[in-house]
Amino acid sequence: MRILITNDDGIHAEGLKVLTRVAKNFGDVVVVAPDYEKSACGHGMTLHDPLRVKETTLEDCPAYMVNGLPVDCVNVGLTVAYPNGCDLVLSGINNGPNLGFDVTYSGTVAGAMEGAINGIRSIAVSMAFFVGGAPLHYETGEWWLRENLGKLLELPHKPLTFLNVNIPAIAKEEIEGMKVVGMGKRVYEDRVERRDDPWGRPYYWQGGVVIMRPDEANTDVWAVSNRFVAVTPISLDWTDHAQIAELKSVY
Ligand code: MN
Repeated sequence: MRILITNDDGIHAEGLKVLTRVAKNFGDVVVVAPDYEKSACGHGMTLHDPLRVKETTLEDCPAYMVNGLPVDCVNVGLTVAYPNGCDLVLSGINNGPNLGFDVTYSGTVAGAMEGAINGIRSIAVSMAFFVGGAPLHYETGEWWLRENLGKLLELPHKPLTFLNVNIPAIAKEEIEGMKVVGMGKRVYEDRVERRDDPWGRPYYWQGGVVIMRPDEANTDVWAVSNRFVAVTPISLDWTDHAQIAELKSVY
């Protein structure tokens, strides 16, 4: 199996090493990752600047460091490493959750999405911590993937979809199991903070407190809140098919 790995935390990120170590058990791995952290870059791509590619190695696998975003990395990888295509794109393991609406901001998810757009089976993987500054427990992610990635890969590949996997950042003994769930709602409160610079001019910094809605059952937010690994199949077709008939009835 020809495997392309990317992430949005950058080529030096611990989660990328963990994912590469696991993926090596399933086939030939090439890592193509941004030169530094590009989290929350969404599905952006670099059009107006050249992409520079530096060859290196990661966990004894060929690797390329790119001055671009995860989407750039997937497409550069398909050019320099797999000109005849590959069988699997893995993105992660992200150093934080990608739940609910996070998937629209996430560079990690965008990496998998770009794989799916290229017709390749793709999986995004994130460590979902509950408290800022708490340990990310990559060892739990490594253990879970070693046990379960093979099963996910045995499933038939549905084109133009990908999987979004969130592993609770807790000790593996505390993991209750796995749930196949839908996208939840994960909204941020007090998202933009106003501060003053040393010259008294205001500036704004985005962050904010995440409001989890674990009460909505069978969502990714609910699953990780209850110590389950959340596996969410995501379709590239964002059409609201229910509204098509409604709109057509008006226009
Ligand atoms: Mn990230």
